[in-house]
Amino acid sequence: MLINMQKTASRVDIAAVLDQLSKQGIDAQVVRQAESAVVIVANGSSGDNVRSLSGSPGVDKVLDIDQPFKLASRQARHESTIVNVSGVKIGGSDIVVMAGPCSVESREQILATAVAVKKMGAKILRGGAYKPRTSPYEFQGLGVTALELLREARELTGLPIVTEVMGTDDVDLVCKYADMLQIGARNMQNFALLRRLATCGKPVMLKRSPAATVREWLLAAEYLLVGGNADVVLCERGVRGFERETRNTLDVNAIALAKQLSHLPVIADPSHATGRRELVAPAAKAAIGAGADGLLIEVHPNPDSALSDGTQSLKFNEFDDLMHSLREPMRRLA
Ligand code: PEP
Ligand code: MN
Repeated sequence: MLINMQKTASRVDIAAVLDQLSKQGIDAQVVRQAESAVVIVANGSSGDNVRSLSGSPGVDKVLDIDQPFKLASRQARHESTIVNVSGVKIGGSDIVVMAGPCSVESREQILATAVAVKKMGAKILRGGAYKPRTSPYEFQGLGVTALELLREARELTGLPIVTEVMGTDDVDLVCKYADMLQIGARNMQNFALLRRLATCGKPVMLKRSPAATVREWLLAAEYLLVGGNADVVLCERGVRGFERETRNTLDVNAIALAKQLSHLPVIADPSHATGRRELVAPAAKAAIGAGADGLLIEVHPNPDSALSDGTQSLKFNEFDDLMHSLREPMRRLA
């Protein structure tokens, strides 16, 4: 159950509600949300006991949420959430395209890509500084050097930056550079990282694990929300199925389902979902058809020489073609 407090609720009102809950043996967590003052999440409680608090001083309304992801649920908030990433709004009427290389490899590579994708209509620049690689012998990312280069690319183009943070130790550093922090698919249930990013003060893009159900994905988002970060963007990046011709399988159902179950914006990553450059455009369009609010696309000046994910990275002209072909779906066919 959720207890939404009025914006004018005093500390005494909040304490009185908590006291009532605790007297009834009900566990509660207080969440401070920028626009709606305070929400109290009451766990494992009998509904009637909580519902009886609806007339208490400072209480706006008591919501009965039957989903386990309470704050992420559309039952908690009917309007779609719009996440503002340094002025770029994700979840509104425009499809937001984030583009850039899998990994930041050099100054020339990231600056050339940033300039090109901006010209072609991307609104956010992506680029990995810390790379989660299956093999320890593969390129692991340039770390802080890459973060400096991303900063330079932002200064040059004005594009906000999204980049992955792999562990709690790196959060302070990555926060200094990124406009939005990416939680990679392999880290979707890294609960220490989720808890830490709940208080980082920056929007978070939460990738779905290739083996997670939509419920698990939304519960991972719940960690961020209950910890105090309301700026969460969900990203579907393909799940592992039996197909071997593609790297993963874009779960279009999950995009539509997450949009129905949750008020959070959902974007799609057709690059990792397909693993094949020639499938990125059709998968991107399918994602938009299913209701995605944006796309994350890997683009590289010379994919054949990329240090990671070259086979799924678009060349500049291919990205330009994709952006042109998206014009119709961008008018919201969904
Ligand atoms: C990436 O975005 O380059 C990446 C590593 O993604 P994922 O975590 O989805 O594999
Ligand atoms: Mn990649």
